[in-house]
Amino acid sequence: MSKRDYYEVLGVERSAGDDELKKAYRRLAMKYHPDRNPDDAEAVEHFKEAKEAYEVLSDAQKRAAYDQFGHAGVNGGAASGGAGFGGAGFGDIFEDIFGDIFGGGRGRERNYRGADLQYNLDLSLEEAVFGTEVKIRVPTIIACTACDGTGARSGTRAEGCPTCGGVGQVRIQQGFFSVQQACPRCHGSGKIIPDPCPSCRGEGRVRDTRTLSVNVPAGVDTGDRIRLAGEGESGPQNGPAGDLYVQIRVREHKIFTREGENLYCEVPIDFVTAALGGEIEVPTLGGRARLKIPAETQTNRMFRIRGKGIKPVRGGPEGDLICRVMVETPVNLTKSQRELLIQFQDTLKGSEHKHSPQAHSWLDGVKGFFDDLKSWLH
Ligand SMILES: [Zn+2]
Ligand SMILES: [Zn+2]
Repeated sequence: MSKRDYYEVLGVERSAGDDELKKAYRRLAMKYHPDRNPDDAEAVEHFKEAKEAYEVLSDAQKRAAYDQFGHAGVNGGAASGGAGFGGAGFGDIFEDIFGDIFGGGRGRERNYRGADLQYNLDLSLEEAVFGTEVKIRVPTIIACTACDGTGARSGTRAEGCPTCGGVGQVRIQQGFFSVQQACPRCHGSGKIIPDPCPSCRGEGRVRDTRTLSVNVPAGVDTGDRIRLAGEGESGPQNGPAGDLYVQIRVREHKIFTREGENLYCEVPIDFVTAALGGEIEVPTLGGRARLKIPAETQTNRMFRIRGKGIKPVRGGPEGDLICRVMVETPVNLTKSQRELLIQFQDTLKGSEHKHSPQAHSWLDGVKGFFDDLKSWLH
């Protein structure tokens, strides 16, 4: 579709001043405003066109670019047709000029735009850390294909409401007063659809399930949200679509827990390695790493392996892998192994406090506690 000249859209000379532009836009916007033409897709198009033209021509810089290069000179939303319409831009410029007339359009704008959707996406820790692409199936509301979103049976179109003459308001007598009310026939839209589309019953939208592909960036965490602009529900009668928010939740991992950009894991080590020292292999999310265990390592001692954590999605250095070791008591000992331990224990006799200082100071404490208790009871 070729785009019309912005000056032509607003019906003004190329030399038009700001006031003239504003007046022209105001006139068109009132005429084609979706609140006044809710069932009229053509009016919506006119409204979008006028809004886009005014957005460009009312901005001195954009206007200069447009004057020189035409539509190619104003890139971004405005140049890509409908894309510039929707979201914040609509409310801003609209309320700026019409806030008083339509009573602050925001509430009604929301009805006009399709609803935002939320989708809860569960990921494994690996998927969250390395990023992934997932296909999701989203129950949503899409524009009806049978009527192209107009709500009128194919080959027919919406007509002006005969009850209110297309104004959307009727005057009724109440006692001495005559008051204005939304037209009961067209519910204020000013339009009726004489022959509604059978697929969508005149709504212009139908329920459906869409399959979307979501690119999950590396490093996301539970609570992060990915916004897919324009992938929410379609608006009624070809109104702009809402957004889809993908809410991330990371499932628990068998081995690792995550805190910020650091990963934590518990590593059991045998008691000989704990006593004599050695090197063990520990898992990382990407594979494995070697970890040096110094002699005389106790349970709960933490070891940090730098750079084996998570690269944060918002940038910054990679976190660390922090391993907490647990000394494992040997089980299933043979008779000769037990004898070796008994022999070993015999060598400790008399110097237990030296080899197991914690156990001994603790035992001394307990003994003192019992002595105190005895003297207090008597
Ligand atoms: Zn339809
Ligand atoms: Zn009516």
